[in-house]
Amino acid sequence: MIEINDVSKWYGPSFQVLKSCSTRIDRGQVVVVCGPSGSGKSTLVKCVNALEPFEQGSISVDGTKVEARDTNLPKLRSHVGMVFQHFELFPHLKVVDNLCLAQQKVLGRDRKEAESRALALLQRVGLADHADKFPAQLSGGQQQRVAIARSLAMNPTVMLFDEPTSALDPEMVGEVLDVMVDLAQEGMTMMVVTHEMGFARKVADRVVFMDRGEIIEDADKEVFFSGAQSERARSFLSKVL
Ligand code: ATP
Ligand code: MG
Repeated sequence: MIEINDVSKWYGPSFQVLKSCSTRIDRGQVVVVCGPSGSGKSTLVKCVNALEPFEQGSISVDGTKVEARDTNLPKLRSHVGMVFQHFELFPHLKVVDNLCLAQQKVLGRDRKEAESRALALLQRVGLADHADKFPAQLSGGQQQRVAIARSLAMNPTVMLFDEPTSALDPEMVGEVLDVMVDLAQEGMTMMVVTHEMGFARKVADRVVFMDRGEIIEDADKEVFFSGAQSERARSFLSKVL
C-alpha cells in the first residue's frame, strides 16, 4: 500500500515541482497517473521509492516512511519495483543474468534459485526462448518485458511504472500493456504513469490527473472517464483519447 500525504517538493530555491500532493493506493489497486508534460508525474513517482527527496509531507510504502532518516532504502527499494520509459537493462549481461543479478546480490538467493525464478518469469512474459540473448538482440517491446520480469524477480509488493510504453514503436505497445494488464488482474498494487487510456479503462481503479505540480483530480475510473470535472482534465483527455 502506498500513501502519499501532502507532499511538496522544490527543484532549487524557487521552482515548486510538487504542490501538496496526496493520494493513496491500497493493496491490489491500480492507479493511473496522467497529465501534461512537465506536470510532475515522474517526480512524484520517483519520490515513492526515494529516487528524489522531497521537502514536505510524507510517503509510506507498506507502512515504511520513505523520508524517515532511519529507513533502510535498499530494503525499501527491493520491494518497490520500478519500470521506466527506457528499459535500462544491463547491456553486457544475458537476459537471464539481468534477472538473476539483484536476486543474488540483494536478496542473497543462490544461483539455482535465482535462475529458476528468472526462467519462470521469462515464461510468464512470453520470453522463455530468449533467456540466453543479450538485450541488444531483442526488440524494444521484448526488452521492456524483460525489464518488468526483472522487477518481478525481486517479489515486489508494489510496482511503479513511468511511461513504460512511450518509447516503443506502436506495434510493440500492446505486448507490454498485456503483461501489465495480467499483473493488475493478478492483484499487484500498481502506480502507473501512462497516457494509455485504454489501459486505464481496462484495469485502473482510480485515475489521478496532475497539472503544474498539483493533483487536480483523483477519481474512480468511471467518474473520471464519464466526465472529468476540471476544464484542464477535460482538455487533456480530448488530446489523448
Ligand atoms: P513528462 O510527461 O514530460 O515526462 P512529467 O509530468 O513527468 O513530464 P517531471 O519530469 O516530473 O514531469 O518534471 C516536472 C517539472 O520539473 C518540469 O518542469 C521539469 O522540467 C522539472 N524538472 C524535472 N527534473 C528536474 C531536475 N532534476 N532539476 C530541475 N528541474 C527538474
Ligand atoms: Mg515524466
